[in-house]
Amino acid sequence: MSEQNFDYEVRCKSCFNKFIVQMYDSHDKCLWLVDNKDWYCDSCKREYLDKKTEMFSKANAGLGFPPLTGTQKRIAWAEKIRAELINKANYLNSTLSHEDEDAKTLSDKAFLLFFQEWQTETDAKWWIDNRTTNVRDISIRIKEITDTLL
Ligand SMILES: [Zn+2]
Repeated sequence: MSEQNFDYEVRCKSCFNKFIVQMYDSHDKCLWLVDNKDWYCDSCKREYLDKKTEMFSKANAGLGFPPLTGTQKRIAWAEKIRAELINKANYLNSTLSHEDEDAKTLSDKAFLLFFQEWQTETDAKWWIDNRTTNVRDISIRIKEITDTLL
């Protein structure tokens, strides 16, 4: 049996540097992928991720959320999760209808306290551990906070 070579040379779409990737599909398919897939080298991938993380950090900071601590990789993931969870909470808030002004004031206060709780969570790991938090979970916590205000 002849030894098969799984190394293919591809070109980074961003910096145009060539690099080697390993693929284990049929040779024809691999050649097709070499030509047609968007390839990015590790350093461009990292740069892209850093930029994205910076974007999320900025957006989250604008909402009063402090920087996260942890490894760079964890922070990158956690910033994305945090942005998504903030969106979920804001979405929930926007869907609520209130009986009167008092009810709205109470709800706004509960959301404020809720966000303050989240703002104290600065460990990237916490956000990763809580990444499956859904609108229902948020709603339950808002209800709990609201009950303490009554
Ligand atoms: Zn590159």
